[in-house]
Amino acid sequence: MTDGTGTTGDARPLVEVRGLTKSFGDLHVLRGIDLTVARGSVTVLIGPSGSGKTTLLRCLNSLEVPEAGTVRVDDVEVDMAARPSPALLRRLRATSGMVFQSHQLFPHRTALQNVTEGPVYAQRRPRARAEAEATALLAKVGLADKAGAYPHELSGGQQQRVGIARALALRPRLLLFDEPTSALDPETVGEVLSVMRDLAAEGWTMVVVTHEIRFARQVADHVMFMDGGVVVEEGRPGDVLGDPRQERTRRFLQRIL
Ligand code: ADP
Repeated sequence: MTDGTGTTGDARPLVEVRGLTKSFGDLHVLRGIDLTVARGSVTVLIGPSGSGKTTLLRCLNSLEVPEAGTVRVDDVEVDMAARPSPALLRRLRATSGMVFQSHQLFPHRTALQNVTEGPVYAQRRPRARAEAEATALLAKVGLADKAGAYPHELSGGQQQRVGIARALALRPRLLLFDEPTSALDPETVGEVLSVMRDLAAEGWTMVVVTHEIRFARQVADHVMFMDGGVVVEEGRPGDVLGDPRQERTRRFLQRIL
């Protein structure tokens, strides 16, 4: 299984994004984003609602296709202005696993079936092996006893942990988290952040959109503050969160802390 530290032996950073632009009609949501993510590092994206954080994550795994810029994840490089083929965009998507704000599990499938679905149907892996791996992944996220439970029998935090196991089951090289705790009851936020901490400690490369500043302080290697479709400030968490240089960053942090 991929251990999150990359599999190609490539010495370059796992992710390099240059000059990414994306519009929805007249709305310029990303205005030339550069992003570098070292292998085995955790990058946290913060910024006000509407600043383009989710769109950037979705561009990284080609759920959205930007107009211009390049995205490289490991050995898959896409020049967005060069009308990339659907096959190339699929290769890019396969490099990463996404955990969404709300878990989006199949309601009529058990936790185990939800985790097994992708490997069996999308990746055509043998069911028995996929189930064995899914069982191990559910144990890893602390849900060994919930394999047979349906989503409605699980708390929000447990559902979100199934969502994380499901992303891991696809053996991605990069994990993307889009506000993974913002739809949860406060008492279940901690269990999801704890799983994410464990993944970071194991060496997974992660890009996380979150308002959990404490998590960012403790776990992030790199913090990026976005506003209005640009990266306003980035650096180590102690600098960006503790002593921001930009007035916009300071105002945002004052509002949310
Ligand atoms: P953030 O994650 O920082 O809150 P988003 O990337 O979700 O920001 O959104 C940035 C802007 O793009 C918002 O104004 C949002 O309404 C708009 N937007 C996002 N997705 C779409 C879409 N599919 N169609 C039209 N507008 C969109």
